[in-house]
Amino acid sequence: MNKLITTPCWLLSLLSLLLLSSCDGNDGVIFSTQDDISLGAQVAHEVDSTYRAKGQLLERNSTNAKAYEHMDRIVNRVLNSGQVKYRNEFAWNVKIIKDDETLNAFATPGGHIYVFTGLIKFLEDEDHFAGVIAHEIAHADKRHSVKQLQRDYGIALLLSVALGNNPGALQQIAAQVTGTLAGLRFSREAETEADNASVAYLGGTEYYACDGAAGFFIKMNSTSQDANPPEFLSTHPNPENRVQNIQQQAQEAGCKTATAPDTDFNALKSSLKL
Ligand SMILES: [Zn+2]
Repeated sequence: MNKLITTPCWLLSLLSLLLLSSCDGNDGVIFSTQDDISLGAQVAHEVDSTYRAKGQLLERNSTNAKAYEHMDRIVNRVLNSGQVKYRNEFAWNVKIIKDDETLNAFATPGGHIYVFTGLIKFLEDEDHFAGVIAHEIAHADKRHSVKQLQRDYGIALLLSVALGNNPGALQQIAAQVTGTLAGLRFSREAETEADNASVAYLGGTEYYACDGAAGFFIKMNSTSQDANPPEFLSTHPNPENRVQNIQQQAQEAGCKTATAPDTDFNALKSSLKL
């Protein structure tokens, strides 16, 4: 009798333990990180072809070597902060899109980051730029994009895209990730989490002001707003609250808020003739 009761209980606890631990280890996403990597590679390939066809993708060749040297230095400081969970798993490949009018940056699942020259042209402070980069890195590292896509498309369709079996849906997802098709809408929680992560990532650099992202929002608020704001300027939570939250996070963490030199950012601008 006793045996009949204890066996299923033992099984049940083992099962729930397994379920719990698999959720913990996978950030609450059904998709595996390997699927993020595959999906990201597919999406990045699609995004590359789109901007290459328009002649806007700055290739990593000798012509653009200087620009990428400085861009990589900025991005690598953030990536090597010791705070990025999937530092060694994801691609963390940055590409520049030549479009001086578009103030945008985005990241695909699996860590392919795209920066428009319009954003580089608009900003003056390297810490603010690093803040935006850190925010986008966080969306990939915290797996927000894949969580949102999983909600929008469902796991089965997303897996078929990751496997390269659904070119139609891939095109649509790529357009959504780049913001050309109604943008990827993150939840308020995801935005706040990415802002908070930007403080942790920049703090870990021991180089950039850890509240760099706040400086970016302050500068944006003092400028006339675009009708179709970029991903990181989504209206929820509102920009004033975001500035306040970022500064509060920085204060609580006790991280450095003195700004770093703008050496790499200025060199990046001049190599891009911005
Ligand atoms: Zn965001």
